[in-house]
Amino acid sequence: MQLPREVIVGRGVLDRTGEVCERLGFRGTALIVSGPVTYPLAGVRVAKSVAKTGSKVEHVIVKESTEASLDSVVKEVRRTKARLVLGLGGGKDIDLAKLASAKSGIPFLSIPTAASHDGIASPYASIKGAEKPYSIRAQAPSAILTDVEAIAGSPYRLLAAGCGDVVAKYSAVKDWQLAHKLKNEYYGDYAAELALMSAELVTKNAREIVERRIGGVRTVVEALISCGVAMSIAGSSRPCSGAEHLFSHALDIIAGETSLHGERTGVGAILCSYLQGSNWESIKLFLKEIKAPTTSKELKVSEDQVVKALMTAHSLRPDRYTILGETGIAEPAAEKAAKVTGVIS
Ligand SMILES: [Zn+2]
Repeated sequence: MQLPREVIVGRGVLDRTGEVCERLGFRGTALIVSGPVTYPLAGVRVAKSVAKTGSKVEHVIVKESTEASLDSVVKEVRRTKARLVLGLGGGKDIDLAKLASAKSGIPFLSIPTAASHDGIASPYASIKGAEKPYSIRAQAPSAILTDVEAIAGSPYRLLAAGCGDVVAKYSAVKDWQLAHKLKNEYYGDYAAELALMSAELVTKNAREIVERRIGGVRTVVEALISCGVAMSIAGSSRPCSGAEHLFSHALDIIAGETSLHGERTGVGAILCSYLQGSNWESIKLFLKEIKAPTTSKELKVSEDQVVKALMTAHSLRPDRYTILGETGIAEPAAEKAAKVTGVIS
């Protein structure tokens, strides 16, 4: 199990990065991986805090999580002789920092400024255009520093997407249980319960979240971190990623990036919970309450693309057994699931 040694969730956390680096015994050059908007807003503060400890700080600006961006970050690690990578920003920045540090054999810190998916804490990362369309194993962050004020200041849509990724754990855990029963796959109660508890806490706090109160932001952040830890404990992304994630990856391929990962897994959770015979209505209600997408239109994809994604999702990852089975579901069944749940009309 790879677990973070320190997790800080609170106000003014960005300015405490140096203090955390010192406690982790870090020395040498630190490389900040961040986006063009985030770096001037938050990166400068992080750099200042780390520089105070006597370490040298370099930075690299990234725009997309592609193979080319990953190569450029790995090159920067080499050029600057960095001994630590700081992933600062949204999912893409953190994924690149995670993969580049793992490739370079050095640790990384996760400093999210948005709470849009559970990659902020997990050992898994995905890259656009990669051979595998889903998340691959990299490494867990050595520490997670979450500034709730920075997250509260990010667009609300990102926070709502984070909730969509958390609510997806209901169907993901069901799929894991199914794979355990039918395929004798390892199943870990502790990891599964941790993922489910995160989903329960987020659904219970819908009002606080949609009103963007600090308490609500904190709930989503802690839920995403707990999901990341659940994956570390399970040694796989199983507790957090089932058929609803395959559906989301299938939509990425079929329709491109017209909506966010968490928005798609949320809708995927409605569809897959229906197929699993569980309470899809309450998932839909929650997503509506927090103003997250529940329909194809809101995901900015066509009705046909939803049906096609549901029919082809199983083929993306044959090693991951889910409610979609080994051969997938038939077109009329996919269409019915999407219609009954109101995802398509
Ligand atoms: Zn996810």
